[in-house]
Amino acid sequence: MSDEPTTNFTASFVIPDEDPSFKHIPSKYYCSGCKKLLRHAFQTVCGHHVCETCKDELKECPVGDNDCKLSASLLEESESFIERFDTGIKRELSRLTVFCPFRHRGCAQECQWRHLQIHSENCEYGIFPCPYVKYGCEFKEIPRNKIIEHANKCKFHPERKVECRFGCGLEVKVKDLESHETECKNVHINCPLEDLGCTKISDVASREKVEEHIRSQNAFHFGLVSDSFGEVNDCVEVLTKDLIAVSETVEKLKDEIKKKDEIILRLQEEIANNRQDARNSNNNPDSFNSQEKSNSSGSFHSLEVNFGLLRVKFDEMEVRLESLEKSSYNGVLMWKIVDYMQKKRDAKTKKASTIYSPPFYSTRFGYKMCARAYLNGDGAGKDTHFSLYFVIMKGDFDHLLKWPFQQKITLSLLDMSGNGVHVSDTFRPDPNSKSFKKPTSDLNVASGCPQFIPIDLLENPSNGYLKDNQLLIKVSIDTSGLKDP
Ligand SMILES: [Zn+2]
Ligand SMILES: [Zn+2]
Ligand SMILES: [Zn+2]
Ligand SMILES: [Zn+2]
Ligand SMILES: [Zn+2]
Ligand SMILES: [Zn+2]
Repeated sequence: MSDEPTTNFTASFVIPDEDPSFKHIPSKYYCSGCKKLLRHAFQTVCGHHVCETCKDELKECPVGDNDCKLSASLLEESESFIERFDTGIKRELSRLTVFCPFRHRGCAQECQWRHLQIHSENCEYGIFPCPYVKYGCEFKEIPRNKIIEHANKCKFHPERKVECRFGCGLEVKVKDLESHETECKNVHINCPLEDLGCTKISDVASREKVEEHIRSQNAFHFGLVSDSFGEVNDCVEVLTKDLIAVSETVEKLKDEIKKKDEIILRLQEEIANNRQDARNSNNNPDSFNSQEKSNSSGSFHSLEVNFGLLRVKFDEMEVRLESLEKSSYNGVLMWKIVDYMQKKRDAKTKKASTIYSPPFYSTRFGYKMCARAYLNGDGAGKDTHFSLYFVIMKGDFDHLLKWPFQQKITLSLLDMSGNGVHVSDTFRPDPNSKSFKKPTSDLNVASGCPQFIPIDLLENPSNGYLKDNQLLIKVSIDTSGLKDP
């Protein structure tokens, strides 16, 4: 706690709903999201202030900075990435210089926002509404020095007696008018049984008339009530019939369930008997034991569960088989990049600046590798070139292989026009580069050509590199001297 004498005052300063007229206000006091004055300021990890509403809806950096560390995924993980309520902002705001709200009427006073309320309540230029506005007075701009005078003679003064506007002849105090009107005999109302169909009073009539109507139409009203009671009765009858039908269906279903239960029981007995037979016909003690075990847990249910597990395993195997079939084990990768235009747009907008090929292998148990492409360029090729790289991946057999990786690498963009004008680049791995050391993480640092080919050349329709919105990349390594262990 600070000893500053004004601390308590600031703490009790309630920011008014209406923005005052600031003499000067730095833009940092406005929300980075909605640009409104920061009434409750929260600071993001990237250093911007947002209001409470914007904080709750924050999906990305409030100033729209693509490189900002406040990525959507960070926000999803935890709200704590946004720092706590920033009381400093409120204190600073409360000390900003503001003009008197009656400046347009001639007041030249300037003060800190936190002192504004006291000033404006006492400002000699102030104008105020009549205190009896709620009783109907329409004077809303009375100068300070005239307000008492007005209030005393205001015709909506609560103690003043006025004649009832419905002409019942009574004189009622202004403050009692509202309650008088709920019982005034001249106030116009409808017959209370209008909803049940009484149309004997045209629209509305005075309370006195309606009371008279109720007395005289007793029999008619009774008829209306019993008619509608009859309708309700009919409804109840229909519902009762429905209910009976439903409970009959339930009984039938119960019977069927019982029959099904009996069938299941019989089947279970049969299975148990079969097991018993199998056990009796086999006197091998090992097999007897295992039969015993499986029998103790044996039931339809567990068979079903086991079958389900097998099914899942089978599906997994199928997926693995598929990826094995797609992988190449001869040191050559053929990589088709489909949907080129969309992927390039994604690269440009940084939605996905880079894409990876599927992995390929030098031999069945050899180096695991892949290619990496930047469709909108990377480094020296940014925005101008298609960048293509070679990446060593962490493989299952790295411990059996020779490091650093030293096979010659060829990166190619294939010409699909049939003219064979492929673009190729061949290089020998630099033995000192990190890229070719034994991997310690999933992917080594990529190595290759940031300026592999200018984008306009690649996209030029008279070249055969971009066909049907697809590119064909070939990566090959020199496998001479490589053998599976
Ligand atoms: Zn906001
Ligand atoms: Zn940011
Ligand atoms: Zn003033
Ligand atoms: Zn008044
Ligand atoms: Zn009245
Ligand atoms: Zn009626």
